Amino acid sequence: MSDKIRSDQKSLQPVVGVDLGGTQVRVAVMRGSNLLSRTSFLTGNTSTPSVILSEIFNAIDLTLQEAGVPLEMLGGIGIGVPGPVDAYSGTIFMLPNLPGWDNVPLRNILEQHFSEKTRIFIENDANVAGLGEYLFGAGRGYHNLVYLTISTGIGSCVIIDGKILRGATGTAGELGHMTIDWQGEVCNCGNIGCLESISSGTAIARRANAEIAAGHGNDLVDFMRSIHNQSYDSPEIALKSQINTQIVAQAAQAGVPLAQEIIIRATRGLGIGVINIIHSFNPQIIIFGGGVTQMGRALMEPVLNVVQKHAMKVPQEATRIVQAELGANEGLIGAGALVYHQIEQKIENLF
Ligand SMILES: [Zn+2]
Repeated sequence: MSDKIRSDQKSLQPVVGVDLGGTQVRVAVMRGSNLLSRTSFLTGNTSTPSVILSEIFNAIDLTLQEAGVPLEMLGGIGIGVPGPVDAYSGTIFMLPNLPGWDNVPLRNILEQHFSEKTRIFIENDANVAGLGEYLFGAGRGYHNLVYLTISTGIGSCVIIDGKILRGATGTAGELGHMTIDWQGEVCNCGNIGCLESISSGTAIARRANAEIAAGHGNDLVDFMRSIHNQSYDSPEIALKSQINTQIVAQAAQAGVPLAQEIIIRATRGLGIGVINIIHSFNPQIIIFGGGVTQMGRALMEPVLNVVQKHAMKVPQEATRIVQAELGANEGLIGAGALVYHQIEQKIENLF
């Protein structure tokens, strides 16, 4: 049925997508992947559930009005949240970047607010983005796919036979926390040498900072000075805040050995992760999203080289590895896709 959703977008019911981010909330009414109206607001300093929720309710009213869609005509409201959720009950466990959101029964709150006139679906943001790519992005036409978002952390969504893989406690497919280096650093999750602690944007910047602090980063500091055209009294402190994946990747391209070493470790780690994904899930397609993928070929080529060299032939040859298509709208379109996907799943479960 997902093929029908993709090919027959004009006949779909309109839905509302809410992309609840750590710093910004975006709301849109859409039909398929076409945004009919949209708005956004910053979470600001007071980001408690009561404050943010009343703004979300206002934003939903506003976008529905602008799109000329009455609540009764809506297929449902999908919300992507930046943290772990119980997708069955629609409860947020906690949000690392939004304090005060522990154990919030988000679906119940919205159902009450809208007097149960529309359906509400909640998912974590990586699953939402993965569903967006599955229905309307790079994953169109595939039913076995893995989506990885590589930014400050590494999130993921595994779709097998058209369904999100959840497991016993709903935590299956935490691919950012698969072990890549059993002698590596301790990760935020408590495990050692996780993919996230090697290949995320945070890991790349942390490694560069550590090398500079240890006195090994003079060439990198010189490179940064040259692109910023600026002198620093205390280069380590001044530069620390400016190191990010983009700078390290640029330095690597310009031939700075330390930067090349850091990028090689990050991309090789990601390549090993992709091999594990291919061997575990036998997907048709692996889609990379998130800020680190802006490196483009400098990221994709070394990853593909590692995979081609070491992965098992049969599943490897059946796997395409591509970049995401939906870009900045991924979270919004994904939240809408969540509604279409969940409605479809429930319909299928009736038979
Ligand atoms: Zn971890």
